[in-house]
Amino acid sequence: MQIRLALPSDLPAVRDRLRAVFGPQRAEHRMDPVSQLIKAVISARTYDEVAWAAFIRLRAAFPNWATLTLADPAQIEPVIDPVTFAEDKARRLPILIRVIILKRGELNLDFLKDEPLDEAMEWLTRLPGVGVKAAAATLNFSTLARPVLTVDTHVQRVGGRLGLTPRGGDRTLAYDGLMEQAPADWDADRFFELHWLLKAHGQSICSHFDPACDLCALRDACPRIGVGRDQEGDVVAFRGPRTLPGEEAGI
Ligand code: SF4
Repeated sequence: MQIRLALPSDLPAVRDRLRAVFGPQRAEHRMDPVSQLIKAVISARTYDEVAWAAFIRLRAAFPNWATLTLADPAQIEPVIDPVTFAEDKARRLPILIRVIILKRGELNLDFLKDEPLDEAMEWLTRLPGVGVKAAAATLNFSTLARPVLTVDTHVQRVGGRLGLTPRGGDRTLAYDGLMEQAPADWDADRFFELHWLLKAHGQSICSHFDPACDLCALRDACPRIGVGRDQEGDVVAFRGPRTLPGEEAGI
């Protein structure tokens, strides 16, 4: 689909400006892909620090991930609690591990390093409970180090406001839109950095309800500058006049 761009296909410019604010973001430690997938699954809709603590407890309780296949969800839930939807995630984790073993004959995802990227994404998103965000995180954050962008809620919101992705709820469309615009020569580290920069921006400046547009490093190019709450506290769709060359403000 045709995507209107605030910064003409300029993910490198977005990255550079946000890097000037938040500093360079590097992958200091990459986990094996199975561990990363489990981490991604239990992280859904959960604050990072809560998810990391739950992951560390889970790893301590199940040092061999394959033993999760035999675990009762009632054993897993208190270990990962208070992640969001802990009961549901506890039920799904053994199923996820069983399916991987059934499909591959072993609990190992290293083969995804050599698969075409689209096929690797498709393979992962066919697993039960694995969406496009968890699949991309597995491919990009882990030792697989594949060049793919992890689009979480912050990345999706910022991308939508900047006009880099369609606004709305479809995570896959946001992922497809951003991947289409990424330079073909970007490696895994560049996608990793863009993810964490957009996330940091979304968490601190371009927040859901009260974006601090006056402090934003991207404000001169953002068609949604001024989006936020009005004086009564209601969310307003667009508040700041902004006309991009050849475009109407507020689009
Ligand atoms: S100008 Fe405002 S809405 Fe646009 S990216 Fe910056 S903080 Fe977000």
